[in-house]
Amino acid sequence: MRVLVVEDDPRIAGLLVRGLEGAGYAAASVADGRGALTADPEPDVVLLDLGLPDVDGAEVCRRLRRRSGVAIIVVTARGEEPDRVAALDAGADDYLVKPFGLAELLARIRAVLRRVRPAGPALLRHGVLTVDPRTRKVTVAGREVALTPKEFDILEALAADPGRVVTRQEILERAWDARWYGPTKVLDVHMAGLRRKLAVPGLVETVYGRGFRLCSQDTAPPGPA
Ligand code: CA
Repeated sequence: MRVLVVEDDPRIAGLLVRGLEGAGYAAASVADGRGALTADPEPDVVLLDLGLPDVDGAEVCRRLRRRSGVAIIVVTARGEEPDRVAALDAGADDYLVKPFGLAELLARIRAVLRRVRPAGPALLRHGVLTVDPRTRKVTVAGREVALTPKEFDILEALAADPGRVVTRQEILERAWDARWYGPTKVLDVHMAGLRRKLAVPGLVETVYGRGFRLCSQDTAPPGPA
């Protein structure tokens, strides 16, 4: 998932880009409306500060919305309610009021993406990895990887929200049964098989005491099988 931060304050833009990258998104920033309208490749989510030096934020929003289904979250300072309303009328999906925390931003992005892409089985991409929930095909850097059904279910649970820690219980419920009471050791066995087949060191990270997550591997080449 690509997130474009449109923000003319370089300090805030830097913080947001780093925070988003830490959460597993591919993030970039531009400092004005022109940059937002000419971004290439087109992002999946635009975080749009309305107080921009060139084009009016609501106008940027309107032009983005006219040509794509990109998710747009506008950002305003407190007291700029008319701007916020104008942006929502212009097609923004949600808004945030400065100052806001990273956790709230990430939650809003997840919520907006759920609404914008409710169709479910879209292709999940994460760095060199693609997961197709419809055909249950997985590729790493274009190479198809044959997984068992359980390995696929585990990977799908992780790839649905890259960067988020998915608990062992969540994975068990998703890949086995709504209520799994058996030993969780079985998960480790399948997880080991999954990692071996993906052959990308560090892609599936163990977060001790919490669960697992997919890490940013946007530039990492696949390791030896
Ligand atoms: Ca600004």
